[in-house]
Amino acid sequence: MARINRNYEKLPGSYLFSEIARRTAAYQEANPEARLIKMGIGDVTRPLAPAVVAAMHAAVNDLAAAETFHGYGPEQGYAFLRDAIAEHDFAARNIAIAPDEIFVSDGAKSDCGNIGDIFSVDNVVAVCDPVYPVYVDTNAMAGRAGDFDGEKWTDLVYLPCTAENGFFPALPQGKVPDLIYICSPNNPTGTAATKEQLKTWVDYANAHGSIILYDSAYEAFITEPGIPHSIYEVEGAGTCAIEFRSFSKTAGFTGTRCAYTVVPKALEREGVSLNALWSRRQGTKFNGVSYVVQRAAEAVFTPEGRAQTRENIAYYLNNAKVIKSGLEQAGLTVYGGVNAPYIWARTPEGVGSWDFFDTLLHKACVVTTPGAGFGPAGEGYIRLTAFGGAEATEEAVERIVKLL
Ligand code: PLP
Repeated sequence: MARINRNYEKLPGSYLFSEIARRTAAYQEANPEARLIKMGIGDVTRPLAPAVVAAMHAAVNDLAAAETFHGYGPEQGYAFLRDAIAEHDFAARNIAIAPDEIFVSDGAKSDCGNIGDIFSVDNVVAVCDPVYPVYVDTNAMAGRAGDFDGEKWTDLVYLPCTAENGFFPALPQGKVPDLIYICSPNNPTGTAATKEQLKTWVDYANAHGSIILYDSAYEAFITEPGIPHSIYEVEGAGTCAIEFRSFSKTAGFTGTRCAYTVVPKALEREGVSLNALWSRRQGTKFNGVSYVVQRAAEAVFTPEGRAQTRENIAYYLNNAKVIKSGLEQAGLTVYGGVNAPYIWARTPEGVGSWDFFDTLLHKACVVTTPGAGFGPAGEGYIRLTAFGGAEATEEAVERIVKLL
């Protein structure tokens, strides 16, 4: 008889966003006249940039003629896109990343989870707390997390990120983790790491042979000078870090699907090249991103594409500013929103995350995300996203200010 992967049974039943959706639907059903504003789920709302759409149309036309038709592409991505990424995301910032260190994929979400394939199941994994749940759940599925005790996974190393440490993790005192997930700019806290902060982890990883899995899906939202856009801006990262990037939030590709992962050739463990392992993994389990989508992603790097996508990012960052100043005016302590599309707000004294979520849902008709859903250290916070329309965002903030 076939046996299932029992690790799946250990996963807690209700995924955060399903619970939010359930409570929201229940409220809407009981109050059909209520006009809800959703500031919970992190999906974009602005349409694709015209330069991107034009490139997609042209690519569709390529597929319509025998001379320019494309079937299976290279699993690691077309050279035209890998070259454009190497030039614009790295060389332009004086970072030496070669095209064959870049692996184009259908999402940072899948890559963050799939990367575990090239690592032994007995590696110790560290995650920040609060955390993007995908790092935790994918390692639980693989059997690296142990058991869920109702609050935490027994085998994971949790790195608390609190207001006291500026939402950046201190080096662990006990067990030395082998795989360390760091996300900057951070989902959910909206804060971004400095070069000095990252350097402490790069030095730690190089000293212990650990690997940093660096998620910079929100890199395009960095506004402050001096904040690194890539971990490879930090000396020594080439021998200890894998970086995940995405066109999802940079260019509105959440539904279009395109991302990439950087695995430097200098990255080796036990005498084996991780670049070669990941290439082997992708070549076997992945058949590449569609030609049309890769042409669309390439257009993000054209002068028009860059200007147009920057406009969309500025639009979201303006929403972030509106949310941040509004909540501060309402008396809340607020973090993030400057280098990221997320605002991380402290709940009023003595009010739990889910209770504050319910209050905002019932009394302001605004849907947020309870911080506790991202890990125990997220208790006492809520997350708001800046991905909505400008008018709706302003109205939501006005409602919250009035309520509080
Ligand atoms: N990484 C982080 C931290 C995210 O918040 C998200 C999406 O919300 C992703 C990755 C997913 O990116 P993609 O759309 O490329 O799968």
